[in-house]
Parts: sequence; structure tokens; C-alpha cells
Amino acid sequence: MTLAPYLTVEGASFWYDNPNHVVLKDINLAINRGEFVAVIGPSGCGKSTLLRLLAGLVKPPVGRLTAAGRLIEGPGLDRAVVFQDYSLFPWMTCRDNIVLALERAGLGQTKAERRTIALGYLNLVGLAQDGDKLPGELSGGMRQRTAIARALAINAPILLMDEPFGALDEITRARQQDLLLDLWQGGSTDQNAGKTVFFVTHDVEEAVILGDRVIVMGTHPGRVVREVPVNLPRPRSRMGSLRSPNFPILRDRLLTELNLVVDERLAPGVEVGAAI
Ligand code: ADP
Repeated sequence: MTLAPYLTVEGASFWYDNPNHVVLKDINLAINRGEFVAVIGPSGCGKSTLLRLLAGLVKPPVGRLTAAGRLIEGPGLDRAVVFQDYSLFPWMTCRDNIVLALERAGLGQTKAERRTIALGYLNLVGLAQDGDKLPGELSGGMRQRTAIARALAINAPILLMDEPFGALDEITRARQQDLLLDLWQGGSTDQNAGKTVFFVTHDVEEAVILGDRVIVMGTHPGRVVREVPVNLPRPRSRMGSLRSPNFPILRDRLLTELNLVVDERLAPGVEVGAAI
């Protein structure tokens, strides 16, 4: 029996205010339940916009998107979003940021339960001692872990992540990648295992380390140019993937694809910003 895809984009095109500036053109994606899909592409190709469509923050003038068989018509509790800038309220403690997200989700927990859940997730991401701190008192990596804890706390089956580690230094980024792999693979609790993840990055190595599949996007207009399966064994660790003989092959293939996209953009005579 083949299962229907869990997250789909069907013939979606998108522009913001100006229909002559088509940001995304005829995007088609089918993502399976529990799949980790990484998306790469040059800056401005519409990766974040595609994520916003999946989050229901913007609507496509053309085409449709579905999550768990339902049309995406706005934000929903089935989809949690993690942004690069953490989006934490700076005047609230880390714990209260998570408590507020739970309150807004309206999952029927008592105040005390929300507090306990928040502390549990802070513990899971290694911040058990830091719940009473304000985001400004934490490092970038710790803030991002708080944002991940908040996304996990509402227990959405779908995680949409927009360059969540883009602002972090190399070692912190590496540790966050391992933490995310561990959480997603269920190393800490079964509840986190098997989430469907849509992960935007501009880092080819990060895409290979994390993804089951890498979607390569091109620009002008933003579109899917290639889908590359990542044939590295699961469960994975960052180091294990880096040491795999397949790793450099995948990385080079993706870098070649990206170079082609950029070269095409620079080549004379290429139609830029074509209308649908
Ligand atoms: P990426 O994430 O790949 O860098 P974005 O999705 O951020 O790309 O942007 C894709 C295109 O949409 C760019 O040309 C960008 O300038 C434009 N864009 C992004 N956000 C808005 C907005 N709120 N209003 C108008 N244009 C936007």
C-alpha cells in the first residue's frame, strides 16, 4: 500500500504585490510523512516564501498546498515554524516564551501543566538551568534551542525550519545539527521522532547531513530544478555523515547543481522575471 504524501504543493505560483514579479513558478512537491526534506538555492530564489506558503502565512494566487490531506488555508497547529531570528519575545523568560506558545495553541492544558511541559522541553534541548533567563541573556545557540523547544512543545507533526542555524558560529551550528538529528530520530523521546521536516538552508553540507532528500531551487522565477535523494544511512550523526564515502559525492553534485542555477541566471539571453 502506498501512502499519500503528507505535505504537498500542487502547481503553486506566487507573487507578492506585483504579478509581473513572479517569485515562485509552478512548484510541485510531495513530501512523505516522517521525511526530512532540505531545500537549497541561491539567495532570493524563494525558499523562505515557499516555507511561508507551507506555514499558511501567505496564500498562493495559483495552485494549492495540503498538509495531512487538508488544504492549507492559514497557520495551523499541525505545523510549527522555527525562524533564523528565533522570534522569541525579549521581555519574557525562555520558559514563558514556551508557556505562551502552549497557551496560544489552546491545547487544553492547565497553567501548571504548561509550565511543566515547557521545563521538560527546555531540559530536552539542554537548557534545564536556563528557563528563567531572558533571551538576551543567552547565546545565539541557546536562543535557537529555546525556539526549537517551543516548536517541539506544541507537538506539531510538521516542522518548518527557515535557516534556523544560519546565524550561528560553526561549532554551535554543528552541535545544533546533531541535536536536531537526535530529536528527529527519537533519541530523546518517541514523541519527537518521525516528524515531517521542511528545512531551508543555504548550506549544502547542512542539507546533506540532515536531509533524506535535497530540493534544489533556481531563481527568476523561483522554481524546483532538481530533487536529490541523500543515500546516507539512518540513524545519522553529523560526524558519521561527514565520514561517509557518499558525502563528498553528494556535496559535489549539489554544488554543481547550484553552480548551474547561478550560471544560468548570469548567462545572457535568459529570460528574467517572466510572467506566468
Ligand atoms: P530566499 O529565501 O530564497 O532568499 P525569499 O523567499 O526571501 O528568498 O525571497 C524571494 C523573492 O521575493 C525575492 O525577490 C524577495 O525580494 C521577494 N520578497 C520576499 N519577501 C517579500 C515581501 N514581503 N514583499 C515583497 N517581496 C518580497
